Amino acid sequence: MLNNINRITASINHTSNYFLELLFPPICLICKKDTSNMPKNKFICSDCLKGLKPTTKFICANCSAKTINGKTCINCKNNCPLDRFFSLYPYDNETVKEIIHAFKYRFIKDLAPTVDKFTSTYISNNDITETLSAVDFIEAVPLTRVRFNWRGYNQSELIAHGISKIINKPLIYSLKRKGLLSVPQAEIKDHIQRTKNVKNLFTCKSQLEIKNKTLLLVDDVYTSGATMQECARVLKDAGAKEVWGFAIARG
Ligand SMILES: [Zn+2]
Ligand SMILES: [Zn+2]
Repeated sequence: MLNNINRITASINHTSNYFLELLFPPICLICKKDTSNMPKNKFICSDCLKGLKPTTKFICANCSAKTINGKTCINCKNNCPLDRFFSLYPYDNETVKEIIHAFKYRFIKDLAPTVDKFTSTYISNNDITETLSAVDFIEAVPLTRVRFNWRGYNQSELIAHGISKIINKPLIYSLKRKGLLSVPQAEIKDHIQRTKNVKNLFTCKSQLEIKNKTLLLVDDVYTSGATMQECARVLKDAGAKEVWGFAIARG
């Protein structure tokens, strides 16, 4: 009986997907080409994917100077709580912008495997698997509860989850976001004001677990770095040995 019901449900799903695709054929998010003959990447066509090679340059989390393996440069070492930083693309890449926008605002949660692919290419092309083996935990920059409920997922957590599978390290949820921002970060242009705006916005609720550990902190976009650096400061104050940043795009 149950098998029959499962079979009928599967058949209804299959039929409704067929009609949905007939009415709304899947098109590439970027070039709008029909992707119905590309079963694996229905959101982005293979041509557009090919054009998206992650960067092979490492730059300092604070001043954007070239660095080795993502290490924060010697000039910024003492005033930047992030010890290393990794990012895949510059945010001025229109394709990347479109993908992140779709991931965040068009509720296309199914883009996560595509983003995971970018991440694994980045890690293998840059030969940083061994560097990343020093990471103890991976943590996503938390969203406010309101934003999480609205979107239904935290896009940074999906990225963090992908990294966790690639480098085989566990996720941790040690940061808690205390409240809402009085002004959205995107509306503030001045770096000092951005830093002030996020001050004391996060707390650490797992001091024992993170003590002397190295954490990889994940966000979708790193613009001024104020939010991620504030999270890193809180984790360091709570006893973390090192905090490294990871973002898909850097503004
Ligand atoms: Zn395309
Ligand atoms: Zn620097």
